[in-house]
Amino acid sequence: MKAQPTGRAEGDSAAIPPALGIRPEIAVRAIPADERIWVPQADDVWFRPLLLNTVTGGWCNLLRVRRSGVLSRHRHPMIVVGYVIRGRWKYLEHDWIADEGSFVFEPPGEVHTLTVPADCAEMITFFNIAGAMIYVDDDDRQIGYEDVFTKIAMCRAHYRDVGLGSDYVDQFIR
Ligand code: FE
Repeated sequence: MKAQPTGRAEGDSAAIPPALGIRPEIAVRAIPADERIWVPQADDVWFRPLLLNTVTGGWCNLLRVRRSGVLSRHRHPMIVVGYVIRGRWKYLEHDWIADEGSFVFEPPGEVHTLTVPADCAEMITFFNIAGAMIYVDDDDRQIGYEDVFTKIAMCRAHYRDVGLGSDYVDQFIR
């Protein structure tokens, strides 16, 4: 027997009203034309915020690295997925290399150190990061963290300093 939702006769179609309080969608060019939109994260490392999710905690961004180098060792308490748009990189802790067009899944509990090879002038990767990033030293002791609120604070300070205005980040916050 077929299940009937909400007591309506088969064939009836119920109107689904627009949700109250829905937040606006976001549709932006991911790689920005204005260089100031890239927020410096470390020497030759930037992120470009796309969605700063304060409801479930997490963020979507592009990560750009323009050097051979290391992005600090960190632990993910929650899921991360990524898609490589340009260049390539690897984790010191794994054998595989993520190059242009690669999809990456990082399981909760994963600890790794992102490195870009010397012959790669620039890498850009889209990351969807849930929860937080917990930075750890070689003994796995916590030395720092980032979450959606620290990311928002970094964006605010940077956009204020470059003349876009501290509220420029608001368009990415949900
Ligand atoms: Fe990571």
